[in-house]
Amino acid sequence: MIRLTAAVLMTSLVFACSQDNGGRQSVGMVETSAEADTAEVLDGNPLLGEWNTPFGVPPFDRIDGSHYLPAIRAGIAEHRKEISAITGRAEAPDFTNTVEALERSGAALNRVSRVFSAVNATNSDDITKQTAKVVAPLLAGHQDDIFLSGDLFERVDAVYEARDSLELTAEQRRLLEETHKDFVRSGINLDGPAQTRLREINAELATLNESFRENLLNDTNSFVLLVEDKADLGDLPTSLVALAADEAKRRGHDCECWAFTLQRPSIDPFLQYSPNRELRRRIFQGYAMLSNNGDANDNNAAASRMAQLRAERAALLGFETHAHYVLSDRMAEAPELVSELLDRVWVPAVKTAVEERDARQKMMSADGIEGGLEAWDWRYYTEKVRKANYDYDEEALRAYFEVTAVRDGVFALANRLFGLTFERRDDLPVWHPDQQAFEVKDADGSHLAVLYMDFFARESKRSGAWMNALRPQSKSGGMVTPVVTNNFNFPAPTANGPSLLSLSEAETLFHEFGHALHGMLSDVTYESLAGTSTPRDFVEFPSQVMENWMKEPEVLAMFARHYRTGEAIPGEIVEKITASTKFDQGFRTIEYLAASYLDMAYHTLDSPEAVATGTFEDAVMADIGMLDEIIPRYRSTYFAHIFAGGYSAGYYSYLWSEVMDADAFQAFKETSLFDADTAARFREHILSKGGTRPGMELYENFRGRSPQIEPLLERRGFL
Ligand SMILES: [Zn+2]
Repeated sequence: MIRLTAAVLMTSLVFACSQDNGGRQSVGMVETSAEADTAEVLDGNPLLGEWNTPFGVPPFDRIDGSHYLPAIRAGIAEHRKEISAITGRAEAPDFTNTVEALERSGAALNRVSRVFSAVNATNSDDITKQTAKVVAPLLAGHQDDIFLSGDLFERVDAVYEARDSLELTAEQRRLLEETHKDFVRSGINLDGPAQTRLREINAELATLNESFRENLLNDTNSFVLLVEDKADLGDLPTSLVALAADEAKRRGHDCECWAFTLQRPSIDPFLQYSPNRELRRRIFQGYAMLSNNGDANDNNAAASRMAQLRAERAALLGFETHAHYVLSDRMAEAPELVSELLDRVWVPAVKTAVEERDARQKMMSADGIEGGLEAWDWRYYTEKVRKANYDYDEEALRAYFEVTAVRDGVFALANRLFGLTFERRDDLPVWHPDQQAFEVKDADGSHLAVLYMDFFARESKRSGAWMNALRPQSKSGGMVTPVVTNNFNFPAPTANGPSLLSLSEAETLFHEFGHALHGMLSDVTYESLAGTSTPRDFVEFPSQVMENWMKEPEVLAMFARHYRTGEAIPGEIVEKITASTKFDQGFRTIEYLAASYLDMAYHTLDSPEAVATGTFEDAVMADIGMLDEIIPRYRSTYFAHIFAGGYSAGYYSYLWSEVMDADAFQAFKETSLFDADTAARFREHILSKGGTRPGMELYENFRGRSPQIEPLLERRGFL
């Protein structure tokens, strides 16, 4: 069954972009007809039929881009038949013949679309991109066909009305309630014309979502900063200098020069190290104006239109605003509760950010530069303040965070906490040679899951870091073990050296692995309630909590070793890392909160009128009292989380989850970092439960009380 939850989880920590398809040929037209005439292309299509691979993983080695569209169409056709079989039954509706049957329906479609969306995000080519554009409205329409089917709802509703007299398990009851809610939230109770309009809105939103994503990708790729004077590189670490030199060569520059792009692993270190203020300004402006230049890649119209359509849809469904609609299905429940949390953190964060600004301004004036600090100066002087106060070079740290060592570190942590073991399996098919496959075994040695990890940035991968489930866990039709993937945009190894991560990239690895654990340790009956199928403001909790362990001295000692000498990370560096955890938190919190306020502002519009995004954003920033020297983490035209992902009225979720993760980690700190009982309770009440119970109930079962905000404020240095 297709649920209304998104399969892809993005981290708030990184936004790197790595595609450049400038030189490729377009594959031309892809059919756009929704009706399949696909008999010939189905023959030998490896996406269909049984997957004769170890653990039944997708046969990536045999799939090419042309296989997806026909397989998805065939999946839709099959799903339709399954739905007809449910609605056509003569027997009275009951839980098994209706709700459970609906849950199991669409298996073939789900299987293919999960693989497609994963591959399109990590290894896209022209044909998958074209396919995505066709598939997005196709799936949106198909979903509407199901959730707006009166015959089907009549049966679901009958079971729902009888729910108290049925002897259902707690999970069955939850599945019934969630299924019923999906219909109601999709507009089943609307009249004919309203439903027609709803379908139009959903289809248009699906298309806009894809074009927003594509414009952003193209615009990111169209920018390059070529540096020809070595002095402009400043103290940029050698590994990144090599990467920039490779990039220049790849782009056909036959000179001693270095190319910097708007990918986070490229732009961030440049802003941090280049002493050339004008070049910093240029690359910063390139980023800040992404898809905002009035050309073919401009996203202003798409963003405005999406906010407008969402407001209209919310009104149709009887909600005050899109945020009210979204939040009524989240832990936060209502926009007021989100505002309350944002405001609670905003005030101390601004105070801290102002102090940080003054310290950076002082450093800049000491450099003999006149005038005020600008946004493109922030990271450069932050690095100088860091060096002065904590005396460690963030880039020198990279030597202790070689990607394989960090990966093994997180594996070792999962072993200490839950007894899991990880065995590399090179016999499993992969979608790209860089992708690594592991068999994960439980403490008793039984097979638990397959985990794929795909670490490096490349042209065909979209920005950021994320997890998805290629196959969620379930046991309603026999035990199905999960297959999950972690995807990153870390700097690839070069001829001169391995991939060395920054501290925050290492944190990202722990974060995404937390999502992977949530998927792998799932122990539920129904797929649509498994693993990360939870409300969005709960789902970042299991991932963010993992970040806590990473910077603990005991955990660093387990994995952080110099990639050349094998020497363990020196104690004094660890002490400095610990001492600096509150460093720059004003800036980081402000840029995140500003984007959260922007998201909420777009989605609390109560009249479906188009807004001018630029003016609108300025007004929101003025309203919250944004500092001039900081821009929101994402501005409107590149805010992919909310306009090309599943985070609309949901970007606050990271902070909401952080309240829980900081408070939950305290439970370990109060005992020990690897306390067996606490870990067992965490697995039992949080990681294994998926979305089978409301988030607050799960939390309270784990902690014995509701979460408190103080550990978060303390951690960020705001208490
Ligand atoms: Zn995440």
